[in-house]
Formats: sequence, C-alpha cells, structure tokens
Amino acid sequence: MPGGKTKFNRSWLVKLDNNGNSIGDWCVQDSSNEFAAYCFVCSKSISCANNCLYQVINHADGAKHKQCIKEKKTQKLLFVAKPTSSTSTSTQGGGDVGKSVYLQPLAHTEQVAKAEALWALNVAATGMSYTSCDGLPVLFRAMFPGQVSADFTMSKFKISYLIFDGIGPS
Ligand SMILES: [Zn+2]
Repeated sequence: MPGGKTKFNRSWLVKLDNNGNSIGDWCVQDSSNEFAAYCFVCSKSISCANNCLYQVINHADGAKHKQCIKEKKTQKLLFVAKPTSSTSTSTQGGGDVGKSVYLQPLAHTEQVAKAEALWALNVAATGMSYTSCDGLPVLFRAMFPGQVSADFTMSKFKISYLIFDGIGPS
C-alpha cells in the first residue's frame, strides 16, 4: 500500500462514471469516515482506502448500483411538501449561543457544501421538483463561473438525499 490511505476527494464528484453520470449525482463523502465514499442511491459505504477514485467508479459499474439508479429514475420524485417551521433553523446544534462569533473565510469544500445545503433548503422551502435539480451544475457553471460552481454537484438523487438525510428529521 504505497503512500498509505487516500482520503475522499471532492474533486471526484464532478467526474463522470462509466454510466455517464456525474459521480456527485449519487455519491458524497461518508460522513463517518474520511477514507470512504457513500452512495446514497444504494445506501452503501464505499471504502476508498486504496486507489479511491477507481473504487468509486468501480462501484458504479456494479449491477446492483445500476439497478438502484434505474429504480430511482423511474420513481416519481415530484414535490417536497414540507411544513415550514419558524424555529427549525435556529435550534440545530445549539449550545454555542452567546459565544463570540468569528467570521472566518470558509474553506473551499465548505463553500461548496454550503452552496449545496442552501440549494437543498431552497428546494425544501419552495417545493420545487427534484427533477429540476438535474442539469443545475451545468447551468450554475454557465451563470456563475468560479471555483464553487465548478465543484457544485446536484441531481434529483442528491437533492432527495440531502433533504431526507441531511436536513430532514432523523
Ligand atoms: Zn450505488
């Protein structure tokens, strides 16, 4: 194992798998393991300990993954009906209220994650269709050229994952 473990790298998310999908359409970093990716279409962690990108792309070649993608594509992911709650934005995390807040410039990956999270909140708040998120990264890159839009990934699978597993009730 030359060089030891390789960490998950967000730059993979804009690469295409062998099915022609952006990896970011179905994959995020495993939140519990920086050396693993997580396929939210199959709900499966993908170890990246060696030759990571290859392992992620290899996962997309699997019959099970292709079947999951196919099933998700035929599912009707239409509208999110989410009751608005005026308290939901301020209570999360808690505990640090009252401390001084230092405004630090966000690291690049955090800026990208923030953009994706803001978009997910926007979709949840306005009830936009998940399908409208397909093609969004290309649109945003054309509208807002820059490093954040270059690494921004979104798809109907990802928005579903973000809303239900990211900001939804757990
Ligand atoms: Zn998968």
